[in-house]
Amino acid sequence: MKKLIYFSLGLALACTAPKSDQETFSGAQRDSLFQEEAAPKEEASSLNDLEGSFQEQGLVDIEKEIPGIQVDLKYSTEDNFFKQDVYGDLTRCYLQPVAAAMLAKAQKALQEEYPNLSLLVYDGVRPIRVQQILWDGLDKPDSLKPLYVSDPKIGGLHNFGVAVDLSILDLKTGKALDMGTPFDYFGYPAYPDRELQMLAEKKITKAQVANREILRKVMKGAGFTGIGSEWWHFNAFSRKEAGEKFALIQ
Ligand SMILES: [Zn+2]
Repeated sequence: MKKLIYFSLGLALACTAPKSDQETFSGAQRDSLFQEEAAPKEEASSLNDLEGSFQEQGLVDIEKEIPGIQVDLKYSTEDNFFKQDVYGDLTRCYLQPVAAAMLAKAQKALQEEYPNLSLLVYDGVRPIRVQQILWDGLDKPDSLKPLYVSDPKIGGLHNFGVAVDLSILDLKTGKALDMGTPFDYFGYPAYPDRELQMLAEKKITKAQVANREILRKVMKGAGFTGIGSEWWHFNAFSRKEAGEKFALIQ
């Protein structure tokens, strides 16, 4: 039983969750993961004032805190693992103030070295009510859901407002740097801890790894920790620290 709890906590650290080592999802497979009509209407209406709710819970708008940072909230579009817009009108990214301050440090370090680059943020805080929508909408038995998405009863670091998903934008071209896979791609080519193997198998290139290194260097320099299965995900705190310092964001 204990083992199962630890297993679930481990999974909850990731944005959605690290997947079975063997799995690589195709677009078609992803489409089938989410039930039609996943978000009932009353849930959708409760999302209308997410920003006000975040501010009441002490979170900050990172674009107001961090000069020049770029935000493209993927969960406010259908361009994500679930192929669902679960943020409604929300287009701004919120974090705990301390995590936003760390991110400001990373952005500053990036721009000092590469004035033409900026951090490009895909996701920050994800409130528990959205986590619940993802959980309820996932077309899998409850016992298998933790393989795909953090259990809202436990909460992951995005649910505390201390995890961030991001890439790097080239301000000259207006395009994100090539990191080898898109955001929310699940499979070995996205795994930082499989890069040597993926290079050997020619699934990713040295240039793509070099781009990831730029991101990792500034994020780690600012105090963030990466995870082994997603090049885009960084945590400002451990799950234990987050649970002690912060409340789950509703
Ligand atoms: Zn994430």
